[in-house]
Amino acid sequence: MTHLEEVQVGVQSIDRYRDVIGQERFAELEATADDVRSRLSGRVIWNVNSTARGGGVAEMLRPMLSYVRSTNIDARWLVMSGNEEFFRFTKRLHHALHGSAGDGSPVDESRRAAYDKVSEDNAHELFALVEPGDVVIFHDPQTAGLLPHAKRANVTAIWRCHVGTDTLNAEAHQGWEFLKPYLECADRLVFSRHEYVPPEVDRSRVKIIQPAIDAFSPKNQDMDDATAQSILSYTGIIEGPPGAGRRVFYREDGSPGRVDRHADIIRMGRAPTWDTPLVVQVSRWDPLKDHEGVMEAFAQLADGRAPAGSELVLVGPNVHSVADDPEGEDVFRSMEESWRALPHGIRNMINLVCLPMTDAEENAAIVNALQRHATVVAQKSLQEGFGLTVTEAMWKGRPVLASRVGGIQDQLRHEQEGLLIDDARDLEAFGKSLERLLEDPEFANKLGECGRERVRDNYLVPRLLQEYAQLIIELDKEGHRVGEPA
Ligand code: UDP
Repeated sequence: MTHLEEVQVGVQSIDRYRDVIGQERFAELEATADDVRSRLSGRVIWNVNSTARGGGVAEMLRPMLSYVRSTNIDARWLVMSGNEEFFRFTKRLHHALHGSAGDGSPVDESRRAAYDKVSEDNAHELFALVEPGDVVIFHDPQTAGLLPHAKRANVTAIWRCHVGTDTLNAEAHQGWEFLKPYLECADRLVFSRHEYVPPEVDRSRVKIIQPAIDAFSPKNQDMDDATAQSILSYTGIIEGPPGAGRRVFYREDGSPGRVDRHADIIRMGRAPTWDTPLVVQVSRWDPLKDHEGVMEAFAQLADGRAPAGSELVLVGPNVHSVADDPEGEDVFRSMEESWRALPHGIRNMINLVCLPMTDAEENAAIVNALQRHATVVAQKSLQEGFGLTVTEAMWKGRPVLASRVGGIQDQLRHEQEGLLIDDARDLEAFGKSLERLLEDPEFANKLGECGRERVRDNYLVPRLLQEYAQLIIELDKEGHRVGEPA
């Protein structure tokens, strides 16, 4: 039985970022890449995670690695495998780290032997490929069991944690206790925020690296109004005619793609027009994203007439498409029920949109069009790890209205790039801030412009690559002998 799969990654020139981040920062990045390349002297940087598609980690790894490869550094991606029991347990562990009991099954010593067995099988194949002196970046709890093997194999081992919660409860501590013995074998532990570092880990080996987005991905690439209009009217989100634009976007590999699928929409009467100001929230249908709270707040605000004649568009994936998220359908149905219970006049202004998911890049292009066209982008999460939708909206120059939770508050400064609601459950405060943004376009536009610059400075891929490169240099200087096996 094979355990590991190597994901083929292309090469994408990092040069396209030269004009985006400016010559000075680009030159710095090039110098850092040169330093890493000479230290590695032909050794490889491996990334190991547990899925080749779906989820933010996979979405980010592909562009990152293809940029790194364009600098003549050998970066590769391996996907570990496991049986059903393993993935059921790691999902349970994932819930625990977020403070929730998941399916209620135990996260304790009784699970260790089975977890270790899968790790050992994968390690067997992994360290047949990886050589002493290579650097391995392990992603998330599924891969933690490989760390003791990495130590024995004499490689530089970095563990990158993409999960995190503001409040560590007993459930979360149980998860971290389980992972603790593995994490002790890592040379560095990378988290997205200081607040996410649990007391179970040795802080002296921790490094904070915030996520970033790729400005050239189908979700974030430039898109003119005519293209956005034709995509939004073709999918049915706004009323036609589609205009002169073509619903074309550019895929990760540079080839053109076309939006050919429609959205599933629940609404009453006619679609909003191109001129209707839209309040948009795009998220998975998850109670923690609180689509329902956005709807209630909008309904309270719009009792009579919505500010500036606006409409609300709540957007998420097609509910039958996300196989590992059965909860999504229930959340959507319950929201639909609440929508049906609203008075006619209010229901009229609220659109529930499920996007086609068959082609992830097509889906991304529709999200791109929606975020670009939105008058206000909302992210009223009750909890949030980082909140990529906020970064995405800021990059598009849109004013963001969001709750002051998780990584959102690092990205967005109140009254500078958007508005933050201190209490995520305060519907009235949300409504008032929304009204302010809708009725003061000048202020809203200023926030949007500042948001774009903040993302340019802090949340694009080059910054992420720079920080990983510095980490590798730091480890090498400390004597982890990157590129030179002991
Ligand atoms: N997203 C998408 N299509 C959808 C809903 C969400 O592409 O129908 C994307 C969204 O644009 C973002 C990601 O899913 O890139 C969600 O990341 P975020 O950090 O906001 O939340 P998470 O889902 O990881 O909790």
